[in-house]
Amino acid sequence: MAHAPDQSSLEHFTRLLQHKLPEACRAEVQTLDAAGVAREEPALAGRFGGGLFLSSEGQLANDQWMAALATQIDRLGVTWHEGVAVEKLEDGRITCANGTTHAVDIAVDARGPGSQSQWPQVRGVRGEVLRVECPGVSLQRPVRLMHPRYALYVAPRPNHQFVVGATELESEDTGPVTLRSMLELGSALHSLHPAFGEARVLRISAALRPALDDHRPAVLQRDGVWHINGLYRHGYLCAPAVVDELAQKLLAA
Ligand SMILES: Cc1cc2nc3c(=O)[nH]c(=O)nc-3n(C[C@H](O)[C@H](O)[C@H](O)COP(=O)(O)OP(=O)(O)OC[C@H]3O[C@@H](n4cnc5c(N)ncnc54)[C@H](O)[C@@H]3O)c2cc1C
Repeated sequence: MAHAPDQSSLEHFTRLLQHKLPEACRAEVQTLDAAGVAREEPALAGRFGGGLFLSSEGQLANDQWMAALATQIDRLGVTWHEGVAVEKLEDGRITCANGTTHAVDIAVDARGPGSQSQWPQVRGVRGEVLRVECPGVSLQRPVRLMHPRYALYVAPRPNHQFVVGATELESEDTGPVTLRSMLELGSALHSLHPAFGEARVLRISAALRPALDDHRPAVLQRDGVWHINGLYRHGYLCAPAVVDELAQKLLAA
């Protein structure tokens, strides 16, 4: 969706998407008129003259996904070492900050921005999100809003909750969310639907995304250690593909 001043950004984004997608997928990018917006997202009826609809776009609730992964990992009988900082990974050995070492067949460094000591090109990019509860509005899917500075989205969660994200700042500061970011996320949300003005703020949080210069994920081996890093804004989206890539490389090694 785009408000009138950001309409040209939406047109540019549409052209970019059509250019980047394989031809077979282009039909999934549908331009909606006002009636189409009302059909797909009834809560936004009458608020936008049009929008872009990606019919096959998926979504997941990341907190539920993490919990499900933990359950599955437990089922597989994995031994967790929680709250233990890893200081160094070497071929066949992991050394922890508390001095313990673990002999391993394969060491995979997936510490995100925490890998900088072994991969200096990895940097952290700060992102901030807002979680609200608003019984007055229902969305069917994550709605993205064109914005001159950030790729903003409002993602519905169970129990009338919504996640509003995310700012993108070239900073490795992990401190609390700033007032400016809170205002920007809040006003973007309110501009989507005025009923969000009554939303209850449940949580505001900031974190770092691990990024490489080209903003693409990388799976590679250096000095006998495997690395997965650079997932940037798309870790949930890309994780299955990068883990598959690692598995293929390990099988081929
Ligand atoms: C605000 C925000 C919104 C986002 N929204 C989306 C989204 O909508 N969709 C999407 O696909 N992605 C999104 N992302 C991106 C996604 O969160 C990241 O791509 C993903 O978390 C990267 O995963 P990772 O495991 O590689 O790194 P990280 O998530 O950084 O995880 C690294 C882990 O390693 C641990 N660690 C670090 N150093 C050490 C050490 N020395 N010893 C032991 N452990 C260590 C850390 O504690 C952490 O648990 C968002 C990110 C942010 C910040």
